Amino acid sequence: SEKAFVMIKPDGVERGLIGDIVHRFEKKGLKLVRAELKFIDREIAETHYGHLRHKAFFEELVEYITSGPVFAMIVEGTKAVQNSRSIIGPTNPAEAPPGTIRGDFGLDVAANVIHGSDSVDNASREIDLFFK
Ligand code: ATP
Ligand code: MG
Repeated sequence: SEKAFVMIKPDGVERGLIGDIVHRFEKKGLKLVRAELKFIDREIAETHYGHLRHKAFFEELVEYITSGPVFAMIVEGTKAVQNSRSIIGPTNPAEAPPGTIRGDFGLDVAANVIHGSDSVDNASREIDLFFK
């Protein structure tokens, strides 16, 4: 079945949210099939966010995502990409409804706790990038 790449960002790890967030994926019915706590280097960060290279916040984003360990995960299940995005919520926590991960735990559009793949193709690219 479908796989999605999900990553708890350094702010989420630092704040001790790994357990709560993993629990939400499990309760949703998505299976955790691989996970690793690790620092990502600048090269992986710049590749992962390559589509945002032209944005004013790109340098800040790379600094943030490499500032501490992330918790990288592969989750698997029915429509894993769409279902993980739906429990994560919109990019900006200010617009994310309560009950979503960003709605419950985030305040800031930059430090927004978690990443989830936005398509099946990107999920497979991200899994190769982070777990090669
Ligand atoms: P992600 O890819 O992390 O799951 P997303 O798909 O919801 O998030 P993207 O448009 O891919 O959103 O942006 C990637 C990340 O860049 C966001 O999650 C956030 O950390 C950061 N970001 C997005 N917009 C801004 C902004 N206006 N200012 C600062 N950082 C931003
Ligand atoms: Mg994205």
